[in-house]
Amino acid sequence: MSSLDSDFLLKNLNEGQKEAVSAPLSNVLVIAGAGTGKTRVLVSRISWLVQVENLKPREIMAVTFTNKAAKEMQERIAMLIGESNVRMLWASTFHSVCLRLLRSYSRQAGLQPGFGVLDTDNQTAFIKRIMSEIDYIGELKPSEVASKISKFKERRQRAADVAFSYKEEDPYLVKIYDIYERECISQNVVDFSELLLRTVELLENNESVRDLQHRRFKEILVDEFQDTNSLQFDFLKLLAGPQTHIMAVGDDDQSIYGWRGADYTNMSNFKKDFAPVKTVLLKDNYRSTQNILDMANTLIAKGSERLLPKVLEGNNGVGSKVNIIKCASEYVESDFIVNTIKLLHAKGISYDDFAVLYRTNQQSLLLEQRLSISGIPFVIYGGQKFFERAEIQDALAYMRLLLNPLDDQALRRIINVPPRRIGEKVVTQLSDIAYERGSSLFETIKMLIDYAKDENVPKELKSLAKKLSVFYDLMEKLKACRESQNLPDLVRSVIEITGLVDYYKQKDLKSNKGALDNQKHKNLEQLVSNASVFNNERFGEALENAEENLDPLLNFISNVTLSSSTELNAEGIEGEGQRQALVNLMTMHASKGLEFKVVFLAGFEKNLLPSFRSENDFREGQRRAYDEERRLAYVGITRAQERLFISYALSRTVYGRTENTGASSFLREIVAQYKEQKPDDRPYKISLPDILGSLLK
Ligand code: ATP
Ligand code: MG
Repeated sequence: MSSLDSDFLLKNLNEGQKEAVSAPLSNVLVIAGAGTGKTRVLVSRISWLVQVENLKPREIMAVTFTNKAAKEMQERIAMLIGESNVRMLWASTFHSVCLRLLRSYSRQAGLQPGFGVLDTDNQTAFIKRIMSEIDYIGELKPSEVASKISKFKERRQRAADVAFSYKEEDPYLVKIYDIYERECISQNVVDFSELLLRTVELLENNESVRDLQHRRFKEILVDEFQDTNSLQFDFLKLLAGPQTHIMAVGDDDQSIYGWRGADYTNMSNFKKDFAPVKTVLLKDNYRSTQNILDMANTLIAKGSERLLPKVLEGNNGVGSKVNIIKCASEYVESDFIVNTIKLLHAKGISYDDFAVLYRTNQQSLLLEQRLSISGIPFVIYGGQKFFERAEIQDALAYMRLLLNPLDDQALRRIINVPPRRIGEKVVTQLSDIAYERGSSLFETIKMLIDYAKDENVPKELKSLAKKLSVFYDLMEKLKACRESQNLPDLVRSVIEITGLVDYYKQKDLKSNKGALDNQKHKNLEQLVSNASVFNNERFGEALENAEENLDPLLNFISNVTLSSSTELNAEGIEGEGQRQALVNLMTMHASKGLEFKVVFLAGFEKNLLPSFRSENDFREGQRRAYDEERRLAYVGITRAQERLFISYALSRTVYGRTENTGASSFLREIVAQYKEQKPDDRPYKISLPDILGSLLK
């Protein structure tokens, strides 16, 4: 590559960014505030590695926080190095990377090829069943048990490891964990934390697999490094060989997933564990106006335990004042937001330049209603997503079972959907037999059917076998389809041969409300389209010396499972074929890394942000959760490019109870900071919601 080209690569970067992008091959840490171009550096660095350092794309792994971010990254890099090159690049989330490694080395990892991945809902259902089987009488909910099990796994503790050491809390927890662990193995399924833990164990215990990866990956780049947990950190340590370099970019001020095990001190650990590390700091913010940045700087300055105090300096002028809007109730607040969007849209701002961010998902309900009534098109990120819908989960369960006949969980879901007279009682009988024989439910069905062929078996057994053979024959038919059909045809067969489409069509007719939400059979059709899009995309490059399974159905299901996780994906629900500009609604958590011209932070108030619980903790002297709320508010504020509206209500109805609320303590803190200054010198203006007209001047 000529020096002209490398100049071109560095052209749109400032000095600090250039330094990071063109750094000699080494471990690099870029630590900088919001909007300073960290993600831009990461993407440019990949192009630099390929074009200047002559690395092959297949030697590079880029890990980002969401699938959406990964996709965007691939698109941007494709523009620089071409579509065919970018296919060789591994750019995805930690979970997808681990899944891919486990698929390639399933046997070495102690799994059978075709293993299934449990998403959060299925995992919770799984645990719920175990809890009822052992007649659990404690206080924990299945979802709480699930998250405790994840915590164990993040600490690399297997059930056997906690059996003796874990004495606190609920004595049943260890028992549930133990049964869960064994059943996951016998059913050949893994949950999300298991993806990581098992990969870490694979790399640790299998030298040849580890060596292969060491030779393959020359450069690993990680975005949003402040939100990695210790398991992910261990994974990086194992994956990087003596010749591998890591570039980590992040911002300790934006660490917002501590509640899920993320640990921003990994940034300082990185400096120690990967020494020598070249550290680059960036200061200039390219995203927001100075007024917005002043609000953000003031808020975060009061945070404790920052690794590196940073002050964002803008490049975009002072800008309009941040509007703090005091509303009588949440109804007034949502009307204000909707009316403001209408007005600004009429002035030429496209709908997709707006984002409404909130602390909790519940807050979106009212906003949804008001936006719909006003005819403003919108998309909700992280609401109930396509793949979580019951009808889609049913179709997927058929496919899961097809791939992995040991998956009892999937079988239970669909053995009687659509109804085929196999009731609870039959399933219980079946489970008992399976339990005694130590075989899967599906094997047991087969066994019973064969057994009932004998003339001398009792009549009840014959009739049981007859019912079950309806289901069994259906699965056999699908098995034949799998052998002869391509992916989209197979998915069509699944929804049609099983009777699912007809079943849901009837249901749709009955509910007959005509709402989009009720078109369940259409969602099933949509699944076929998804499969056909997926079929046309790549399956990824096979690993050398690996038994990577390129079965399209397996790939499709894996992909679907990972993208159905709220944590991994900020993919929104879109109506069919919608390509119009949409207002973005999401939680502040989901907004990380994104930017919008106009941002509304709704419910910036007492009991919501900081959350009720964190404020309580704070009063009792525990700062952790409270500090994290502060960082979350900082993330919210720093998403805005040009205009920021921060609103709060004086009263809000939560779970049917109307409570007096008021401005967030964070807001009061900021205002106190500027009270000596003249209104003109303050970065904000406090108003009532009825001043729309004047707002727009
Ligand atoms: P966050 O902390 O929110 O993830 P970030 O540090 O990753 O932010 P980017 O998203 O990379 O920041 O950049 C913020 C915005 O600034 C983007 O619109 C980006 O294109 C722009 N930008 C970054 N660097 C420059 C530059 N040198 N010149 C002009 N614009 C820039
Ligand atoms: Mg970023």
